[in-house]
Amino acid sequence: MTSRYRIVSLKFYHWITQSVITLRNGLPHGCYLCQEQTPHFRHRLCDTCREDLIFPQQLCSGCAKSISATVKWCGQCQQSEPYFILVSGGYYQTPIKQLLSDFKYRQQMSLARELAHFLARRIYKLIDQDIIDMPQAIQPVPLHWQRQAKRGFNQAQLIAYELSHYLNIPVIDNIKRHRSTQSQAELDAKQRQHNLDNAFQLRKPITYDSIALVDDVYTTGATMHEISETILQQQTIEIQHWVVARTVISE
Ligand SMILES: [Zn+2]
Ligand SMILES: [Zn+2]
Repeated sequence: MTSRYRIVSLKFYHWITQSVITLRNGLPHGCYLCQEQTPHFRHRLCDTCREDLIFPQQLCSGCAKSISATVKWCGQCQQSEPYFILVSGGYYQTPIKQLLSDFKYRQQMSLARELAHFLARRIYKLIDQDIIDMPQAIQPVPLHWQRQAKRGFNQAQLIAYELSHYLNIPVIDNIKRHRSTQSQAELDAKQRQHNLDNAFQLRKPITYDSIALVDDVYTTGATMHEISETILQQQTIEIQHWVVARTVISE
């Protein structure tokens, strides 16, 4: 192949790929919530609906309670400092609640990007405020293989992969859920704690000094605490807990 021919072929290839991208960007694409056109084919929400996702300005980094000042902890957490930092995009309330539920139970997998975007907004805000540091890797909360096979995907893993694009840090897969557990939602607080005993296993040591565990919804935090304890029994690393939404805290 002559070099001139090669250059022409490359230019043609570049033109084709650019045309496909331009075409895809230009295609009408409805917002998942209001059906208005979205600005980019990768977005599932229009700018207005993204803005309307309720994003509390300041949350406590221990319990995610809404606070007014730019501080790390609420009064209660300041008195007994939580062992793990909790980063939550917002609360489990409409419209985030609808997006999370459609994503998980109606197989709307492309919503993972919007949910990760919502959480990434909080992460960048806390980094800007010097409240948290960016961890070196993201570990999604694993599902037991039987539950994953039934659902077809692990929601925490899809969110972790999208977050990884926004934050430019890798996703790791070092934790295994080796025991199927009853759904935490069906149990009271005491049963929940025992339900998770020895449910997780560290497949291999984590080669990073700091990680974030990622999940979709946070209720009591028992799952994330159990995983963190499983890791910390074997190695010393910094662990943050990241969730798209925390269930609403009653005052
Ligand atoms: Zn919209
Ligand atoms: Zn707190």
